[in-house]
Amino acid sequence: MTAKKILVMKFGGTSVETPDKIHQAAQRIKATFKKGYHVVAVVSAPGQMTDELISLAQEIVSNPDKRELDMLLATGEQVGIALLAMAIKARGIDAISLTGPQAGIVVDEFHTHARITHIRTSKLRQELHRGRVVIVAGFQGLNPREDVATLGRGGSDLTAVALSAVLKASHCDIFTDVRGIYTADPRLVPQARRIPRISYDEMLELASSGVQVMQPRSIEMAKKFNVPIRISHALDMQDTGSWIGEVKPMEEAVVTGLALDKNQVKVTLRDVMDRPGTAAELFTAIGQAQVNVDMIVQSAARGTTNDISFTVSREDLAPTLKILSSVQKKMRAGSVEKDPRVAKISIVGVGMKSHAGVAGKMFKVLADHRINIQMISTSEIKVSCIIAASQGKSALQLLHKAFFK
Ligand code: ASP
Ligand code: MG
Repeated sequence: MTAKKILVMKFGGTSVETPDKIHQAAQRIKATFKKGYHVVAVVSAPGQMTDELISLAQEIVSNPDKRELDMLLATGEQVGIALLAMAIKARGIDAISLTGPQAGIVVDEFHTHARITHIRTSKLRQELHRGRVVIVAGFQGLNPREDVATLGRGGSDLTAVALSAVLKASHCDIFTDVRGIYTADPRLVPQARRIPRISYDEMLELASSGVQVMQPRSIEMAKKFNVPIRISHALDMQDTGSWIGEVKPMEEAVVTGLALDKNQVKVTLRDVMDRPGTAAELFTAIGQAQVNVDMIVQSAARGTTNDISFTVSREDLAPTLKILSSVQKKMRAGSVEKDPRVAKISIVGVGMKSHAGVAGKMFKVLADHRINIQMISTSEIKVSCIIAASQGKSALQLLHKAFFK
């Protein structure tokens, strides 16, 4: 192939939800192509189409067959790629749309949450070499049975990053409905600032703390293959956005960003026997149900028993309660309790590695405003606290003020 650089441009659902927005995406692709890039565009299903298709399937049966659900969901992205290809061709630029399978994306057996195993790039490269813009359907690939499988919600980001990695793109441009990554959600904290550069690890921590700008798996992949990512607003051509990559500033800020996650529920199993193996049994059962547990706290023993509390996401509450009630019977434990009125507040920053006292400062700010901390968890670059949901927004504003002057 010619020595032209490859750029992967990903357009999320909101960026292709109307004909007008599709034309704007086409315009941006044309401008990039004219600058001399080979362009691979990855497209999501327009608007809320994926949600609508899921509801439609559930009107037929409450628990649709997963292979058939994938057949249905994969059509959303096909709508997006075909329309975008038409809009680009109408501008005198040659373009071709390809489904995930046509683009050579090979995935494993797990319908509705398949993983990409490899990508056969020959067709993609051939089309680029012909001078075409190649438009690829995000979120899908071909499994070993030659069936279409999807990559899990938000999976178009993963398609874009994977293609950037195999094609050695100069970077992966994510066009969305926000201007990048902010020190806190600007809808909740008006003083929030855009973060111009952020490391993969910080972005991963923010994503797992409730910042839903990119799918976390795609950030993991970007880190593994060192793909620089830029996130910017689809409708603003001048937007410089936020860069995610290996950043090594001269001196890091102590805290890079804050996150508030209202999607957590706290569950408690009371009066569990205080003996080795209890936690192992409980969390093995929960892990087997594919439920991700976030924070865990075990109370001090009262005689021979203690309480175990942990948090899960709201979607996982029903399976978690089911497991807890069977564990409760088996272990002869006390009551099972749930508290949905909690929120997780987190501070994230690589600077924490070299600065002491960051957690203390966070706790002090919360204490000064009578915000009770129910649970705490930390990593090298993050401190998270579970607090009452009703205090979430004010906690975010207070902490932002404390850490970002
Ligand atoms: N359309 C899929 C979803 O809504 C994939 C994506 O948007 O990235 O989850
Ligand atoms: Mg979507």
